[in-house]
Amino acid sequence: MTRALPPASERLTVLGWWFRPDAPSELPMPQRLVGGWDADARAATLRYLRAGTVLMTYPDASFCRFECGVGELGRADLTDGSYVWPDGLPHYVEQHDVRLPDDFVARAVAAGGEIAPFRAPKPRFGLYDSSSWLQWGRSRGACLAFDGFAVPGEAIAERIAADLDDDDYEIILLCNGGTREVVLQLADGTLELRHVQAGGRPPQRFADWLAWPVAGAASARPDGKPPARGGLPKPPDRPGRGLTMAEFFAKRKASDGDGGHDPKN
Ligand SMILES: [Zn+2]
Repeated sequence: MTRALPPASERLTVLGWWFRPDAPSELPMPQRLVGGWDADARAATLRYLRAGTVLMTYPDASFCRFECGVGELGRADLTDGSYVWPDGLPHYVEQHDVRLPDDFVARAVAAGGEIAPFRAPKPRFGLYDSSSWLQWGRSRGACLAFDGFAVPGEAIAERIAADLDDDDYEIILLCNGGTREVVLQLADGTLELRHVQAGGRPPQRFADWLAWPVAGAASARPDGKPPARGGLPKPPDRPGRGLTMAEFFAKRKASDGDGGHDPKN
């Protein structure tokens, strides 16, 4: 069953969904979007972000990707009727100088940091549109190159674990069926790109995801090969992958925190 998306004019443009190291995705890394603010524009944008109306709240709190020690960042989505953002977004702008798309900043500045009255939309399938957010992140070099990589399901992860035949790693984060490569998180927190097949290239280490190549860069892959087809699943169109709100929360409860990963959180 396919569900029709709301008309484009009713969809909300996503802001502030970030890459999370434990669940790699195409979402942008805020660390790659730091700087370049005009002080007045930033002040108006911060006021505007804080003036949003609560659209949704979530059981799990968000966390700061800069690991600055701030603790929980919030568990709600705010909206102005056109955009939607996590209520933790002002923290990134204020504390870490993270930039936001020019069209949104222009809107906040033009409005003097105040949100004009609007009718909040009802949370429903297809309400969130993250396409321009992803496009902006890629254009700013903030998204990582994951062509051909996917998050392994349980069965595939088990097969890979058998093939790897060692326990010199913590988690199998990604796999690439085309190239027979996996990305492993090692015990010390570093990442390793490894060929599963014997005789493949020697493993390659990355201190963290900031060292991973970005999408659209001259060399899209660590080894410079052209990208393979495939890619990670797109971020879910929240509040759920075609679920009603009740189903969404029931599912989260049932999964008991495991698999209830919110890629944006
Ligand atoms: Zn922070």
